Formats: sequence, C-alpha cells, structure tokens
Amino acid sequence: MIKQNLHTHSLYCDGKNKIEDIVIEAIERGFNILGFSGHGYNRPIDDYSMTLENTELYYSDLKYVKQKYKDKIKIYVGIEEDSCGRYFKDKECLDYVIGSVHFINVNGKFEEVDLSKEVTDNIIKNGFNGSFIEYAKAYYNEVKKVSKWSEVDIVGHIDLLMKFNDNEEYISFSDKEYLDIAYNCIDEIILNDKIIEVNTGAISRGYRTKPYPYVNLLKYINEKGGKICLNSDCHEKSNIDCYYNESMKIIKNCGFKNMMMLSDNGFLKKSIDEF
Ligand SMILES: [Zn+2]
Ligand SMILES: [Zn+2]
Repeated sequence: MIKQNLHTHSLYCDGKNKIEDIVIEAIERGFNILGFSGHGYNRPIDDYSMTLENTELYYSDLKYVKQKYKDKIKIYVGIEEDSCGRYFKDKECLDYVIGSVHFINVNGKFEEVDLSKEVTDNIIKNGFNGSFIEYAKAYYNEVKKVSKWSEVDIVGHIDLLMKFNDNEEYISFSDKEYLDIAYNCIDEIILNDKIIEVNTGAISRGYRTKPYPYVNLLKYINEKGGKICLNSDCHEKSNIDCYYNESMKIIKNCGFKNMMMLSDNGFLKKSIDEF
C-alpha cells in the first residue's frame, strides 16, 4: 500500500514541528513516502518563506533524515514555490517543486489570498471593484502562469481563493461563470502536463469541510484525463494524514482510476487501488 504526502511544512517556514519529528510521526502513521515542501525563498513579499540561510539548513536536515530513516520511509526534498517568487528555476538539490498561488497583486501591492476573510474582502473590494468573478479571473491567471513553469511538477491547491467560501458566501460553487474560468485553468494545467494536488490543509485548520479542489472541479479533472496526487499540506504533525480516508472516497467517487506517486525515477502513475 502506498501512503504518500508531498506537501509538508516544518519550523523552517510556517510549520510547527522539526523535520525529524514529522518524519517519526509519518512512519508511525504508516506513510512510506514523505516529501517536504518548505515555502521557497520569496522575501520580502512573504515573511513565512524560508530565508536563504534556512534553505541551506533545510537541505542538510533533509539529507540527514533521508539517510537515517531510509529503511523505513522514502524522504523527498521539495519546495513550494510561489507565483510571485520564482527562485528555484534550476531545481538544484530538489526532487520536485509545487507551484502555488498565495498572493495576488492589488494595485501594486501583494495581498495574501488565504490569510483571512477580512483580507479576502479587501482584495475583492479594492482590487476588483467588488467582483468575485474578476478576482477569480486574476487568481486563475496566476495559477495558469505557474503551471507553465518548467520546474513545477505539482500545482498546489488550485482553488485556494475559495478558502473562505465554504458556505458559498462569495459565490456558488456551481456558478457557471466561475466554473468556466476554473475549467479553463484546469485545461491549461493538463496541457502543461502538471499534476493537480488534492489538498486537505484547510480542513485540518477548520476553514473547509472538503479538500481543494472542490468536487465539481475534481470531476472535471478526471473527465479531462488530469493527473492528481493527495497531500495534507501539513503544518502540524498530528494533521499529517488529516481527512485522507475521506478524500480517497471522494477521489474514487469522482471516477479516478490512478494517482501519481513520486519515486527515485520521478513521478509514476499508480492504480488507485494501491493507495
Ligand atoms: Zn500553499
Ligand atoms: Zn503549503
């Protein structure tokens, strides 16, 4: 059985635990593949992103645990790179890259998409004249942008803009105009041959009751032959497999027959029954 998480944050960025403690927790919970994805250098825009000094320590810490626990778990070195902070083009030292959108440019200032409902309200009001649809267009354009980057393997939480919309306060999940924008973005990601992440991070933190992407987007991804992987976007080791069983049911219900697994030879397509 494959139990994998490729989206993990440690004390080097905004996670709560040391790398080795996360590895031990993952082994105890039956993971056989664990990838770390510290927020890649994106200063001064993102104070949570790793400093260059911390990035070096992060690499050496990962090298240490990779060797120490090699008989128990496969450890991979990744980065979560932001659409407004492309620093890891050359991919040195990295097994994979997650490309994510956390910021949106509002009148020349980068505002955080997933910080709080108040900030989201302000982005829509001040950046897009109160139009969620215009915001969605700008957001998904950024997602399309990272999906074109050669170093990116996985596109992270593609509908993060819906973080504070669980009760459809901003827009209905089935709004036709919204879906067309999101579907168009998914088409582009598939065209660029990138993996789309199913991400349970907002569930463990109480913002959402379902993973990203929302189920109608997931169904569309499956219809179009898109590739997916399941990640917990873990910031606290006790959440490392949060909502995994439920997400597997959702993924199967959407019709997926395969998921992607990271190996020493890159990403491999594996039957859903192996997970
Ligand atoms: Zn993220
Ligand atoms: Zn993350």
